[in-house]
Amino acid sequence: MTPLDIAIAGCGPAGLAAALLLHRQGHRVTLFDRFDRPQPIGSGLMIQPSGLAVLDALGVASDIVAHGAPIRALHGLNHQGENALDARYMDLGVEGACGIGIHRGSLFSVLYDAVIGERIDIETGFAVAGSDLAKGGRTLSSTDGRSTPAFDVVIDALGTSTPLAPPCGEWLAFGALWATLDWPAHGPFDEGLLQQRYVHANRMAGVLPTGVRAGGKRPEIAFFWSLKAAEYEAWRNAGLDAWKAEVCALWPECEGLLSGIAHAGDLTFARYAHRRVSDPVVERMIHIGDAWHSASPQLGQGANMALLDAFAVARGIAHGDGVQGGLAHAASLRSLHVRLYQTLTWAATPLYQSDRLRYPVLRDLLLAPLGRVWPGPGIQARLVAGLVGNPLQPLGLDLPDYPALTGRA
Ligand SMILES: Cc1cc2nc3c(=O)[nH]c(=O)nc-3n(C[C@H](O)[C@H](O)[C@H](O)COP(=O)(O)OP(=O)(O)OC[C@H]3O[C@@H](n4cnc5c(N)ncnc54)[C@H](O)[C@@H]3O)c2cc1C
Repeated sequence: MTPLDIAIAGCGPAGLAAALLLHRQGHRVTLFDRFDRPQPIGSGLMIQPSGLAVLDALGVASDIVAHGAPIRALHGLNHQGENALDARYMDLGVEGACGIGIHRGSLFSVLYDAVIGERIDIETGFAVAGSDLAKGGRTLSSTDGRSTPAFDVVIDALGTSTPLAPPCGEWLAFGALWATLDWPAHGPFDEGLLQQRYVHANRMAGVLPTGVRAGGKRPEIAFFWSLKAAEYEAWRNAGLDAWKAEVCALWPECEGLLSGIAHAGDLTFARYAHRRVSDPVVERMIHIGDAWHSASPQLGQGANMALLDAFAVARGIAHGDGVQGGLAHAASLRSLHVRLYQTLTWAATPLYQSDRLRYPVLRDLLLAPLGRVWPGPGIQARLVAGLVGNPLQPLGLDLPDYPALTGRA
C-alpha cells in the first residue's frame, strides 16, 4: 500500500503500539498527546497472554517480563475466609503461561522508548478537542485553537473520555483507590499471586505484585481498595487512620504495607466507565482501545484489548481495500472479542463491586465451587487470559513462548 500520513491521538498503550506497527509498515506517523512529556497515570495492571502476544509481535515482550512480575493465579477470599476467586493460568494448558503484573509506568516506558528509538514524530502539549474532514483528509484541532494539516487517517486512542467519539455508556458507581508501594520483603504476600479480600461485594482490598519498575531498584506492589465515587469525600474527611483500621480488620496482613501510605494524596482514586461506541469507524477515523470500549478492570483486560485493537488497525490498513476498507476490516477483526468481553465484564463486575447481597452469594456458593470442577478451571483461565472468543486467530498472532521469555525453558 502507498505510505499514508497517519495521525494517532493519544500516547497510551493503544496509541504507542499502533504507532510502532504502522511506522514499521512504512507509513508516516505523528503521535499527539496533551502532556508536555507523555506519561502514564495510575498504578499497576495485568498484561494477559492476549496482550503479551501483541507485545511479543512488537519485539518488546522480554522487556515487559523483565520489568513485571509473573502472576500464576488470581486468588480471592471473602470475609469468612471462603474461596471466592481462584483462577490459575496453568489451567490454560500452555506451558509456563502467566499474567504479568506491571506498573503502568513500565508498560508506558517500554513502548515509549521504542517509539523514540524509531524516531516517530510526537507532538506534545496538544490537547485534542475535535477532528474535521478537510482537503481529502482529516485534521485534528486543539483546545487552544490550533489545527493540524490534513492526514489520510486519524486514529483515536484518547481513552475513555475521548472528545472524538460520541458520548455513550455510563460511569460506574464503584471505582478504586490505588497506591504503588514497596514490596514488603519478608511480608505475608505471595509474589506470584494477585490477591483480593472481600466483604460481600461492597468492600474489596487487593494486592498485585508489579515487579521492578523501569529505572527502579526494588520490586513494588499495587494496592487497591474499592470505593464508590459518591463516598470519596466522606473517605477523605474520615481520615487515613479510620480507613487503615477498616482495611486491617478485613485483611490484618496489610498493616505493614499500609505504613507506606502517609497521606490521602498517596492514593489515587480511579473511576471506571462502561461504554462502547457502536461503530468505531467513521470517514477516515477509527476509535481504538478505551476510546472505542471501556469497562471496569475486574477482568483486567483494558490494556490488553487496547493492544489487540492497535494490532488490528495495522493489519486492517495493510490488508483492507483502501483507507476506509482497511479501517472497516480492522474493526471487523476485533468486534466479536470486544462485544464478548464487554458483556462478560458487565456480568462479572457486580460479583466484586456492588451493594447487592445476592451477587457475592452467587459468587461464593456457586461460581467459585464450579470454577474448580471440570471444565470450570479451563474456562476461568481462558476468561482472565483474554482468550475467550479466540482473539489471536483473526490477527494471525500466537501465544508467546513463555518458557523462553521467563527464562524457565
Ligand atoms: C484503576 C485501573 C486499573 C486497571 N487495571 C487494568 C488491568 O489490570 N489490566 C488491563 O488490561 N487494563 C486495566 N485497566 C484499563 C487500562 O488502563 C486501559 O484499558 C488502557 O490504559 C487503555 O489504553 P488506551 O491507550 O486506550 O487509553 P489510555 O491509556 O487512557 O491513554 C490515552 C492517552 O490519551 C491521552 N489523552 C487523553 N485525552 C486527551 C486529549 N483530549 N488530548 C490529547 N491527549 C489526550 C492521555 O494523556 C493518554 O496518554 C485499568 C484501568 C484503571 C483505571
